Amino acid sequence: MNKESICLHGGYTPKTGDANVIPIYQSTTYAYDTPEELAHLFDVPKDGHIYTRISNPTVAAFEEKISLLEGGVAAMMTSSGQAATLATVLTVAQAGDNIVAFPTVYGGTFNLLKVTLAKLGIECRFVKPGMTDKEIEGLIDDKTKLMFGETIANPAMVIFDFDRYASLCKKHGLLLAIDNTLATPVLVNPFKHGANVVVHSTTKYLDGHAVAVGGVVVDGGNFDFRNNPRYTDFVTPDESYHGTVYVEEGGRAAFALKARMQLMRDMGLSPSPFNAFLTNLGTETLHLRMKKHSENAMEVAKALKANPHISWVKYCGLEDDPNHELAAKYFEGGFGGMVCFGVKGGRAKAADCIRNLSFIRQLTHIADSRTCVLHPASTTHRQLSDKELVDCGISEEFIRLSVGLEAAEDIIKDIEQALEK
Ligand SMILES: *Cc1c(COP(=O)(O)O)cnc(C)c1O
Repeated sequence: MNKESICLHGGYTPKTGDANVIPIYQSTTYAYDTPEELAHLFDVPKDGHIYTRISNPTVAAFEEKISLLEGGVAAMMTSSGQAATLATVLTVAQAGDNIVAFPTVYGGTFNLLKVTLAKLGIECRFVKPGMTDKEIEGLIDDKTKLMFGETIANPAMVIFDFDRYASLCKKHGLLLAIDNTLATPVLVNPFKHGANVVVHSTTKYLDGHAVAVGGVVVDGGNFDFRNNPRYTDFVTPDESYHGTVYVEEGGRAAFALKARMQLMRDMGLSPSPFNAFLTNLGTETLHLRMKKHSENAMEVAKALKANPHISWVKYCGLEDDPNHELAAKYFEGGFGGMVCFGVKGGRAKAADCIRNLSFIRQLTHIADSRTCVLHPASTTHRQLSDKELVDCGISEEFIRLSVGLEAAEDIIKDIEQALEK
């Protein structure tokens, strides 16, 4: 099926007389007639559900849909995007190991990788801007378990150079995990470009209506864990799971199986069935929304560019944007809804612009149907000096705009009147 159809039909096919829409299985547990049936599920968990901390039919329907949309082999929904990233790292890394990541990742991810993982004994080595391939390879040693990046880094708006970094990972037999939240599987499929694991904060475009926090890990099924000394855990029996060997039991979905049987089981990163239902409902219209977000963002970016109160605009869809060439290579059918711009006059004028907006709301959120803005220098990054802001790719006049689904004309009018005031 094409993605439009997967959005609607993927993950759930009613049998005769069943509910047309995936029901909310609001149950912690599942009843079985015989001990043999339950014993079988402990051996082969993918054949059914035991306990909602580990899996649930409503959650499973969404997992199947997102796996199909990404072109993966299995997926695991989590309680948040943060939990998805944590599960991804801990499926391959433990105390004494390290990972390589890009410092432009989402702020919450940056803190998780830099501060919290360090407390667990996992070091994160950050790729500094401008590093050569050789310098990046210098960060990789035999304890390195993962490279982590974002398709579109938020809010710096840098596009991930898949060809370059995937070939480095391939050369070193290293797993490449990508946060595809801002591109969504409608616009970019990282597995086509060499990624092995994809994570999403489903809180953003997949939900799309700002009602449910969630995340998902998708297994690309395209990484060979056999004969690779970095990942001996995948080929040796897991005593905590009655001697399961993940590459044998999971086959191509070994990563997803290990993530579920170790991390979901032990750490309880599970989403509620109700949130899975809401997220699934949002995803049904993802293809329509991403098209409109992209069209609107392009119109807004062009209008901002022509506005005398604006000093610069960043949108990877604009042909003269420094990231356009990379974006054009990987994006299909649009460039998404995130636009950043600088207001002439610095911090005070940027804050004034936000103060004067009418229907466009100031929120610590992005990728919603409703347009929203944030001024990082006075909110998420307020503790930083002007010099530190520049190091993060954020300047004092920087406004992050998440372009929604209203009429482009209304969005532009609202920003123009705020700038005029
Ligand atoms: C929001 C976000 C996250 C974190 O997701 P939560 O659902 O808020 O935990 C991770 N990555 C990106 C790119 C995000 O925008």
